[in-house]
This record gives sequence, structure tokens and C-alpha cells, in this order.
Amino acid sequence: MPQEQNKGLQPKKITILGATGTIGQNTLDLIERNPSHFQVVALTGNQNIPQLVYQAKKFKAQFVATADADKYQDLKEGLAGCDIQCGAGKEAVLEAASMQTDICMAAIVGVAGLEPTLHAIKACKTLALANKECLVSAGKLFMQSVKELNTVLIPVDSEHCGAYQCLAAEQPENIQKLTLTASGGPFRNLSEQELQYVTKAQALKHPNWEMGAKITIDSATLMNKGLELIEAKYLFALEVDQLDMVIHPQSIIHCLVSLKDGSVLAQMSEPDMRVPISYSLGWPQRLQTPVAPVDLADMGQLTFEKPDMERFSCLALANHTLYNTQRLGPILNAANEIAVEAFLTDKISFTAIVEIIEQVMEKMESHLANFNPMELNDILQIDERARYLALEMLKLRV
Ligand code: NAD
Ligand code: MG
Repeated sequence: MPQEQNKGLQPKKITILGATGTIGQNTLDLIERNPSHFQVVALTGNQNIPQLVYQAKKFKAQFVATADADKYQDLKEGLAGCDIQCGAGKEAVLEAASMQTDICMAAIVGVAGLEPTLHAIKACKTLALANKECLVSAGKLFMQSVKELNTVLIPVDSEHCGAYQCLAAEQPENIQKLTLTASGGPFRNLSEQELQYVTKAQALKHPNWEMGAKITIDSATLMNKGLELIEAKYLFALEVDQLDMVIHPQSIIHCLVSLKDGSVLAQMSEPDMRVPISYSLGWPQRLQTPVAPVDLADMGQLTFEKPDMERFSCLALANHTLYNTQRLGPILNAANEIAVEAFLTDKISFTAIVEIIEQVMEKMESHLANFNPMELNDILQIDERARYLALEMLKLRV
């Protein structure tokens, strides 16, 4: 593996929350390629202890945590004879997130990553944010904390990382619109009728990206793009009418920034998450990656389509949420997490995912009419209530 030298600079201290996941593994792949640039401080995982132990030993982490309290013995035994501290359970993950570092890669999936990432905002200089659910559930609180603590926030989600780069030199008043691209997922061309019969295996086969199970299903329902529009609203402080999306099946252009003079800036790369991850790790420099720049002539054509909100009605729910993200974001996110998990465990069909989310939102929206949660506890309570209702809806179906 080719290695790049760090030209006498101190290695950056890094913690990876969610090290065993797809983003975590890609982050470690880049660290392995640039070993003199980084020093791994802490790694966290959940159920996959052999993988976590392997990573901890290979990258000589100081501290390792599993979120699963029952896995402490396994982790301890795996690390026997090594000079690596370890812990298990929620507190141990928070301890890892609280270690002082230059960079924290926040790549836990779901709202489980919210509290650790809020801790990391206090402990790191640069937060590389992959976990979009943090922003969907608690965007206002999250962005306020980033601002108060002067933490540099670099988005890792490919579209947002592209937008961050396009927007870097632009005054806010020049920006007319940010358009995120979406591949359209594996079911882009299926009819409403056909969508009812798709299988888990088909849904887990994304045409362009290799990702964890939850985001792969979100990409098949297009909820992922809905979550990303909410993510973009918070990251770039944009109004709802400045946010747009377009289907682009090749996933080469990740975003388009339209400016008031008629210019449109786009960011392109092959669909390989190591490109945006490397941007967040190297910032303000760039790191070498094994990904070749796109060759447009070789590609021949890039195509674009309008999204169909009727066939992919998760988009309509997310669009509705966009107008009231503070109140509806935690509900949309929690109901989606439960519904996706139910689909992944063969409890419901693909089209039932959106039905469950819609039912939970309908039930909770009127109750919370004038409540815009800002405190973490209030957000977590809404999250818990939405999960409870989603589970109740599931019971009615079996
Ligand atoms: P993944 O499922 O592959 O990995 C998830 C990680 O979170 C694992 O390390 C797992 O151990 C950990 N985890 C799971 N449940 C946990 C819990 N309760 N407490 C603590 N840790 C827990 O997911 P991924 O694809 O790497 O995605 C991670 C995040 O990055 C998601 O929020 C996703 O939306 C976002 N993201 C991923 C991609 C991608 O290409 N994979 C792209 C953009 C954004
Ligand atoms: Mg994305």
C-alpha cells in the first residue's frame, strides 16, 4: 500500500466513533495509507468484538469501547496482554468520545450517536460528521453547540462534503440554491405495484455505494435524501426553498450550488466514501487516496431525472418535516429507525416502512403542536415516544 509522508508535522490524534462500520473501516483504511499523519486515540463499536479488537491492536488505540455492556468480558479477553484500556456500555462510549483529540470521526449509525457526538464536539478540534441522524433529530441544539465551542465541523456525507467545498469561498448572499443528487437506489424504475413485492436482499443491493444496512435501506426508500435535505438545512443555514434534489443514477456529481450570477458549482468524484472521508481527515490539507479522478470522456454520459414523490413517499414526509425540523425531525428519524429495523428483521414489507412512519407522525404531530424541543432530554423523550408508537403500529400488523 503506498504511504505518504507527513513532512515533519505532528500526527493528528483521532477518535473514531463507530469504527467497525463502513465509514469507520474506510476511515481506518485511509489512516493505514497515511500512517505518519494520524495517531489513533480511541475506537468504539457495538456487537462485532473480533473486528474491534483487530482494529485496536492494528492501530494501537489507547482506549476501546463497545456500546454493548454484555460484551465487556469478550473485549477484555480479546485485548489481554495488550496495553489498551477498554470499557463497555453507554458510559464507556461517552468516555471514548470525551478524549481530547484533533479529529473525531462521528460514524455511529442512528440517534445512538447523538450523545457521544455531542460529547465529541467538546473534546475535539475538528468533528468529521457522518452521522446525519444527529442533525435530523437535534440539528438546532447540535449546531449551537458546535458554534459555542468553536469546533470545526466538516461534513462527511458525500453530498454535504461536496457542498462544503463548493461553498467555501462564497458569501451567503450569493447562494440561490443547493441541489443534492440521489442515485435513486435499486428501485428507481419500479412501479408502485412492483415496490410492494421487493425483497430485503434486493433492497440491500445498492447500485453504486457500499454502505451499512440502515443507510442502504434509507437509500432504497429515498428517505436518505430526505434526511440529507434536513441535514443540509442545518449545516449550511439554508431556507427550505433553497434546498432541492435531483436523481442522478451514476452518483458522480454529488451536489450543485447555484449562485445568483447564473453560475452552478458542482463537486464530482467516483462514488467512493474515501474521497469525502479523506477531505474531513486532511482538512485544511488534502490527503492522497487510491481513488482516481473521474474521467468524463470515459464515462460517456451523466443523466438526471426529477424525483417521484408519489412512488417514494418517504420524500414527501421528509419534505413536510423540512418546514418544521425542530419539532418533526426527531419523530421522523425515530419512526424511520424502527420501521427500517423491522424491515431488516423480516417483520414488515418494504412499502410498510413509509406507512409506519406516516402513522407515527400523524399521531404525534398534533400533540406537539407548539413544542419545539431544544433541550437534549426533551428531544430524547420525543424520540422514545415515537419509537414506542412505531412498535405499537408494528404489533397491529402481525
Ligand atoms: P454501519 O452500520 O456500517 O456502522 C455503524 C457503526 O455504529 C458500527 O461501528 C456499529 O458498531 C456502531 N453502532 C451501532 N449501533 C450502536 C449503538 N447503539 N451504540 C453505539 N454504536 C453503535 O453504518 P455506516 O454505513 O458506517 O454509517 C454510519 C453513519 O454514517 C450513519 O449515520 C450513516 O447515515 C452515515 N453515512 C454513511 C455513509 C456510507 O457510505 N456508509 C455515507 C454517508 C453517511
Ligand atoms: Mg449521502
